[in-house]
Amino acid sequence: GETLLEVEDLQVEFRTRDGVAKAINGVNFDLRTGETLAILGESGSGKSVTAQAIMGILDSPPGFVTGGEIRYCGQDLLKMPDKQRRKIRGPEISMIFQDALSSLNPVFPVGWQIGEMLRIHRGMNRTDAREGAIKLMERVNIPGARQRVSSFPHQFSGGMRQRIMIAMAIALNPAVLIADEPTTALDVTVQAQIMALLKEIQEERQMGLILITHDLGVVADVADRIAVMYAGRIVESADVFTTYAHPAHPYTLGLLESIPRLDQKGQELTAIGGLPPNLMNVPPGCAFHPRCRFARDICREGAPPPLLTVGTGHVSACHFSEEVLADGDAS
Ligand code: SF4
Ligand code: MG
Repeated sequence: GETLLEVEDLQVEFRTRDGVAKAINGVNFDLRTGETLAILGESGSGKSVTAQAIMGILDSPPGFVTGGEIRYCGQDLLKMPDKQRRKIRGPEISMIFQDALSSLNPVFPVGWQIGEMLRIHRGMNRTDAREGAIKLMERVNIPGARQRVSSFPHQFSGGMRQRIMIAMAIALNPAVLIADEPTTALDVTVQAQIMALLKEIQEERQMGLILITHDLGVVADVADRIAVMYAGRIVESADVFTTYAHPAHPYTLGLLESIPRLDQKGQELTAIGGLPPNLMNVPPGCAFHPRCRFARDICREGAPPPLLTVGTGHVSACHFSEEVLADGDAS
């Protein structure tokens, strides 16, 4: 597909009374039409902040984009006047969030909220917008859409509300859809259904899809590529198969080891010990070193290890990527 989005050397800071936190420190990636990129990491890794920077919902205290470019179809969103950027947010690049209940307005019927997109951006009258809303509700598989178009958000289950959020997000046929932990609040069966629906709509419309998640298990079946973030940087990126079969970064390996696997029942899960660093006080050297079982002296000092190519379309920011690759292949 053609390139939709290019993020280049993105830098984001949070300025608080306690100091400055580098939330994003030199992030790079591309997104093409029809491609699904999963951005993976624990909370505080910078994955949601990356999404907010792309959406342009960040530049107010405490969060600021302090460097880099975010190009959409070749144009830098960060240099665009607000008015022009607002025309991209929603119609071109759209986003869904984890918490559908707080994103929906409790006092308006869901059909009205979906239809609002069509009334504002497409200039539709109420009747057409209502019909459009029903079609969108049907597309996201809400049973009895026509009967439920005037129901309120609280009258739907969590999974159905997330479907309503998807309907709103795709109403204007965006080229890029960003989903930030879209299924985290839902139970496992519903999670899988929502992921399958996103994938289906993405393929049908050839959207570029960015899935932001802390759960490598959730994106296995839907992602084409995975970028793993830690402490504001991408530490590994590869196609989905390579990420699962041949991780080169110890952090990715740790995330993989903490996914429950059906074929290894009874085997104990190894969660990564410790916590991600406070971004106001990131450890020197490799930020992951306090939690890394591969760490040696070189990891604890100097600049963070750079992202280096370790295979086709596969980059890893670890001094010992080769060793980690060999370790994974041996087990
Ligand atoms: Fe671990 Fe060192 Fe690699 Fe960082 S650079 S992930 S501390 S081995
Ligand atoms: Mg988040």
